[in-house]
Amino acid sequence: MNVLVVGGAGYIGSHCVRQLIAAGHRPVVLDNLVYGHRAAVPAGVPFFKFDLGDETSVEKLLRSEKIELVMHFAAYCYVGESVTDPLKYYFNNEVATLHLLRAMLAAGVKRFVFSSTCATYGTPATLPIVETMPQAPINPYGQTKLDVENALKALALAHGLSFAAFRYFNAAGASEDGAIGEDHTPETHLIPLAFDAATGRRAQLEIFGTDYPTPDGTCLRDYVHVDDLSRAHIAVFDRLAKPGAALFYNLGTGRPTSNREVIRAVEKVTGRKIKVVEAPRRAGDPAALYADSSKAQRELSWKVKFPDIESIVATAWKWHSAHPTGYGK
Ligand code: UDP
Repeated sequence: MNVLVVGGAGYIGSHCVRQLIAAGHRPVVLDNLVYGHRAAVPAGVPFFKFDLGDETSVEKLLRSEKIELVMHFAAYCYVGESVTDPLKYYFNNEVATLHLLRAMLAAGVKRFVFSSTCATYGTPATLPIVETMPQAPINPYGQTKLDVENALKALALAHGLSFAAFRYFNAAGASEDGAIGEDHTPETHLIPLAFDAATGRRAQLEIFGTDYPTPDGTCLRDYVHVDDLSRAHIAVFDRLAKPGAALFYNLGTGRPTSNREVIRAVEKVTGRKIKVVEAPRRAGDPAALYADSSKAQRELSWKVKFPDIESIVATAWKWHSAHPTGYGK
């Protein structure tokens, strides 16, 4: 299939591009390179650089490349920033997506795969999280993703758009061959920051909150390998052949891992000690988030290849140790 990967130069999008190629599809990348890296896109993959707000160009691209399905990864992803600068998130994550969807309808492209998030659930009443639980985001990042999910439902009814919205838990790791990995500026995620503390690029690692009602007092998260995420995106293609399909899936391993366990895994994989400083809780952090992904396992035959934090960290370290400054500027 000819697949437009919007945000294909970003962390998850670039891994998906490689999985698409491996599965015999033809990816085309659209990325404005605000946060993406041109070097993350393999040579030979058609690459276009413009904003989704340029709807005429999006529509033209969909037609000229004979796109049959669109995957949309392009979004800002910092929860804290979404609280201090909500308009940035409403315009980029929500308005830009509506432009993309309108261009798709104009070009007659009716299959869509959307990157949603466990942040749409807010603070869950029970764990693990299942797809049918109420969604009540506690920050604009989660709200913009939920708003898009709701727009997609309406478009499925009104226009027969078929879509899958994947609610990611904590994406982590890097491609097994070490070719591409995670490079955010600024970096706020626990695993890359732990590598920097292990290698001495940072003096220490702050652990945000040690008084949570969890076994070791630190937050529990569900880390899922970026290639496992990518494979689910491709496994859903068959189900999108049906007009008006409206699909929602959690993607996580279902295994809760504490921040202290992540740090221990990084120390073990890197063979280095991390200087840890106990710091206050970070605003907006629920104590525990982990997924029930049995729906994706059942309906998509989705199997997790990397079920534990150590194997995930090992792939991330392979890339990070070879690219300590990321893709470079
Ligand atoms: N975290 C931490 N120190 C850091 C960065 C993150 O203790 O320097 C914690 C954070 O508070 C959360 C967990 O690590 O409990 C995962 O955070 P991350 O930002 O990696 O992902 P999120 O869960 O926010 O998507």
